Amino acid sequence: MAGRPRFKHRKGRRPRRPRPERPKPVWEPKTRLGKEVKGGKITSFDEIKLRGKKLLESEIVDFFFPDIKTEFVLVGQSKGKFGGGARRMYKTTQKKVREGSRTKFTYVAIVGNEDGYIGLGKGASRESMPARERSVKNAKLNLIKIVRACGSWDCGCAKPHSIPFKVSGKCGSVRITLMPAPRGTGLAVHDEIKKFLRLAGVSDAWSVTKGELRSRLNLAYAVFAALKQTSEMSIPESFKKWGVK
Ligand SMILES: [Zn+2]
Repeated sequence: MAGRPRFKHRKGRRPRRPRPERPKPVWEPKTRLGKEVKGGKITSFDEIKLRGKKLLESEIVDFFFPDIKTEFVLVGQSKGKFGGGARRMYKTTQKKVREGSRTKFTYVAIVGNEDGYIGLGKGASRESMPARERSVKNAKLNLIKIVRACGSWDCGCAKPHSIPFKVSGKCGSVRITLMPAPRGTGLAVHDEIKKFLRLAGVSDAWSVTKGELRSRLNLAYAVFAALKQTSEMSIPESFKKWGVK
């Protein structure tokens, strides 16, 4: 049969068959708190925090925030010539044992719902993927609620686009101060700090930093401590008009 193509598709151009969707594993709560959440006794995440309960299952966070987002702090560095030392999501450390060296991977994850909730977690393991999963899990267990407002005197729009007041945090030599900025400023901060603020739902902020920011782990902890401060201070009634959320 002339003119009829022998093969329907050229090699390598065959459209890929869609992968059958894997069913999501059903969450079986193990703790009493988990059972209460799944059973509908506890209806919001704030209720857990108000009761002062400790989270032991990260699935509780997934239950209340199904579209929670994850980012990783670039804690590591690649090896090698030609300008090696590019930032990486994981850090490797080595322990020397009789057989040689044992490598360990460390990830630092930030989770947030882009609407006031944020968590930071670290995970380490001898393999890369478990470390990554652990860091995300730990970040979810550390979830906190931050307070947002229009804290800038130049703005006064009463919308929760920035932080309510100046906050600071420290870890190691790193000192970080976050300051409220007027609307439209954007995040005038270090690239790693941006990840935190974006996931927390803060769109305008300024920062002042001091110390060795290259130690990303300390940087991450300092930013988290600063953001935590927003919710630790009691806010007077007269301040509520600035869009406190
Ligand atoms: Zn404003």
